[in-house]
Amino acid sequence: MNDSAPFDVVLEVAPPRFSPDEVVAAARGTFGVEATHADDLGSERDQTFLLRGDDGSPLAVMKLSNPAEDPATLDMEALAVLHVQSVDPALPVATPWPVPGAGSTDDPATYRAPFEVGGLTHWVRMYDVLPGRQRAEAATLSDAALAAWGETTARLGRALRGFFHAKAQRTMLWDVQHAPRARPLLGDIGDTTMRKAVERVLDRFDDVVAPAWPSLRAQVVHGDLTIENALIDDDGAIVGIVDFGDMSHSALMIDVASILDSLALDRHGDERFRAARLLLDGYQRVTPLEPLELELAGELWAARAAVTIAISSWRSARGLEDAAFAERYNRSVLDTIDAILTLGWDETARRLGAGAPQTLGGAGLVARRDRVLGPALEPLSYEHPIEMVSARGVWMTDARGKTYLDAYNNVPCVGHAHPRVNEAIARQTRRLNTNMRYLHGAAIELAERLVETCPDGLDTVLLVNSGSEANDLAWRLATTFTGNRGALCTDYAYHGITDAIAPLSPETWAVRRPDHVETWTPPDSYRGLHLDAASFAAAIGRLAERGIAPAVSMLDGVLTSDGFLEPEPVFIQELVGRTHAAGGLWIADEVQGGHGRTGEAMWSFQRFGIVPDVVTLGKPMGNGHPVAAVITRREIAQRFADETVFFSTFGGNPVSVAAALAVLDVLDDERVIERTRVAGEALRTAVSAVATRHPCIGDVRGVGLAIGIEIVGDRETKRPDRAIAGAIKEGLRERGVLVGSTGAEANTLKVRPPLAFTTAEVPVFADALETTLSALEA
Ligand code: PMP
Repeated sequence: MNDSAPFDVVLEVAPPRFSPDEVVAAARGTFGVEATHADDLGSERDQTFLLRGDDGSPLAVMKLSNPAEDPATLDMEALAVLHVQSVDPALPVATPWPVPGAGSTDDPATYRAPFEVGGLTHWVRMYDVLPGRQRAEAATLSDAALAAWGETTARLGRALRGFFHAKAQRTMLWDVQHAPRARPLLGDIGDTTMRKAVERVLDRFDDVVAPAWPSLRAQVVHGDLTIENALIDDDGAIVGIVDFGDMSHSALMIDVASILDSLALDRHGDERFRAARLLLDGYQRVTPLEPLELELAGELWAARAAVTIAISSWRSARGLEDAAFAERYNRSVLDTIDAILTLGWDETARRLGAGAPQTLGGAGLVARRDRVLGPALEPLSYEHPIEMVSARGVWMTDARGKTYLDAYNNVPCVGHAHPRVNEAIARQTRRLNTNMRYLHGAAIELAERLVETCPDGLDTVLLVNSGSEANDLAWRLATTFTGNRGALCTDYAYHGITDAIAPLSPETWAVRRPDHVETWTPPDSYRGLHLDAASFAAAIGRLAERGIAPAVSMLDGVLTSDGFLEPEPVFIQELVGRTHAAGGLWIADEVQGGHGRTGEAMWSFQRFGIVPDVVTLGKPMGNGHPVAAVITRREIAQRFADETVFFSTFGGNPVSVAAALAVLDVLDDERVIERTRVAGEALRTAVSAVATRHPCIGDVRGVGLAIGIEIVGDRETKRPDRAIAGAIKEGLRERGVLVGSTGAEANTLKVRPPLAFTTAEVPVFADALETTLSALEA
């Protein structure tokens, strides 16, 4: 067709107008069908009849093409139907008949026969009769029918995905892609309000949809699975897809736009959007939409409605359509447009499931947080709290669009939004999520792979949901196994929130000092203090004085909350020996130090050359998805099993397990441990260089990407300076770098980025630190 013409010529030409008798003759002459009745089924481009025999029984559906129709286009239709049947044989598409004696059925021309009248050729095609009825009222469809309709539409799109034909590259005005070409038709919309509404939709299309169009998934699509083009059963489910005449190569979303336009019609208020959501749910059962597709769903829906009004006004002005019918129908379609315009584009997108618009919550959000979440929740970080909206790798973006280098969050260990983990979660959540009462190989594989990473003897895994739960379970295992009830941890440890574990989290103690817990002071090599095991021995002694023996000694292998201290292996070995001698178990809490953070090994306990009795995992295990684990010896698990039974509803669910397995895979594939070692060394070196110019940096320490930068008021006395540390943290935040503070005096900068942090980010960090310190000193 001529590219400057508004649309496909076939729409400009009236459909053929053969009488039933002529049709019966044509059926006999072309396909040898002996019909006695031909019922006109109505069509926009061609003429379609139900052929019936003497007794009224249906024989075939016959199509007589518009003389303007290119036969190659009809061939595309035949090939598409055959393709769909081969990909998804259960889709109820009408099978075309080969012309009797016409030869190879691979040749699409086999499926059409010429019918010449007055020098014009009409192509005759014959199809199987499908069951079902046509022309239902969309508003009467049940919820189940809407969802099924969405699902069938998606299946049809999927079945056409691998299909192509040169004729698919055509300009169909119904194809929302070409909505702007409807502008010349708007003069035929008599009602000004209606015309203005259509114009607003087309303006929006120009502004928002057209620029994004090339990014939308495209393929050959049916494009028109509307209520007119499907046969339905008594439940409203599609049992026949009858018209492939609007096919073109376009965005997949035009299928969605056409069903929204057709099927959510004549519903009012939120009912219209509820119907739309049910259609989308059904569609996404088969084909999940991409974020951009969902974001534009409202615009595409409205554009399809606008095009519908434009075309039918134009056609009825030319006598090609019944004007009264067109007017009535267009009023309903206008209601859709009005509903969308009234709601606004953002709210429409939200109602269609495109997620909340990323608006600034600001001070109002802080007040709402305080009001509803209360004072027990930890306060927000930073003087000016950040509303984060997205993140990728080591970069986070806030609602204002400012990006931050994340040098703080250890949970997304292989990087924020890692595609492997995202997809593993999404795929599994679509397939199945259930619990450990059913067999599933993935949880078993995860447990096996975790055991493989551990020293011999640590052979049994229990799956839970958080670090706190893992430590809680470790506590129960230990108290059951040892029969003791005491616990040892460092002075400023944090191990979790449960009733059993909060007592082992002195970082969070306000006043209450639990009777059964004693703390010890870890070695501070910067100040040369507590380098021997005396503090630990004294803690055991204090417990003993109260007649308490330790069940556990719990240690975070990178001593995060104590300020990233670095005890020597022999020191820790001695502590393990003393714990065992006192009757307790050694619990390696790997919630912080695990999953490669040390840049040396998978688990931080490995650097001490010890074999713990229990290992607990959390935070990084699912890269942000809640999943945690306990790994122990069989005899310890057995003693527990003798007394109780362990089951956690979510623990080991297939979705969490999929996340955890993906994390293990990425750790291997990206050689994360080695990358962490190199990045960690480079970062410490760079920060040490900054320290030569800024005396407030007293010490730079840590292992891998668990780094502490201790801030002091005076390098001679090494006096901790919490205020300067806080100011540096705020200054870095202003300069787009996120760190925390840690240690009993909160004077150590906590630098603990996702392990996606590489040497590339080192200068960004070092420069921000340098300028922050210079600014503070000025
Ligand atoms: N152990 C350590 C060492 C931790 O740092 C934390 C959390 N900060 C926990 C346990 C508790 O983990 P969760 O918050 O997942 O319960």
